Amino acid sequence: MGYRHDEGLDYIKQYPKLRKWINTCICCGSTGYNPELPEALTKNWGQGEFTTAAARNIRKYFNLLRVNELGICETCQKLNPIL
Ligand SMILES: [Zn+2]
Repeated sequence: MGYRHDEGLDYIKQYPKLRKWINTCICCGSTGYNPELPEALTKNWGQGEFTTAAARNIRKYFNLLRVNELGICETCQKLNPIL
């Protein structure tokens, strides 16, 4: 880590398309990246697909956060087994 949480959120604000790779737990509000985030994200500039730094940056700014189909992270699921 070594990065403040806010930096990751600022980064996502700059690139709203990346938001789909960010999970936010509806219970505790913690954020992290989706485990399905590909190794590298590509962008089509009109001359073909180019790999962007986005996936690497997301991994730099966020920890992995797995949420269930209700949007609840594993920590909260353990704390609230009824969910
Ligand atoms: Zn949670």
